[in-house]
Amino acid sequence: MDKYICAKCGAEWSSAWNIYGKYNHVCKVNEKEKFALEFDEPPALVFVQERGSNKVKVYQDGKELHGVRSIAINASAGDITTHTVEYITGLTDMK
Ligand SMILES: [Zn+2]
Repeated sequence: MDKYICAKCGAEWSSAWNIYGKYNHVCKVNEKEKFALEFDEPPALVFVQERGSNKVKVYQDGKELHGVRSIAINASAGDITTHTVEYITGLTDMK
C-alpha cells in the first residue's frame, strides 16, 4: 500500500483508496474563497456587478433575470424603491 501526501495542503491518502484504480485529490489550497450573502427570504431586488467584468446579474423576487441590458434603480433610505429594467429582445428566456 502506497501512501501519498499533498505538498500543498498536507492531506494524506493511500493506494487503498484507489477503488477504481485512481484517486483524484481535490486540493483546497488553490480554491478561491467564496463570497456569500444569505437572506431569510428571497430579496425583492439584487444587482451584482463582478469585478473587472462588464457582466452583471440581476435577481428580482429571488429569480435571476435574463437578457438585462440596463437597470435603473431609484433608491434612498426611508423611501420606496423603484426600478426600471431594459431587456434585450429575444434574450429574456426564463429557464
Ligand atoms: Zn492538497
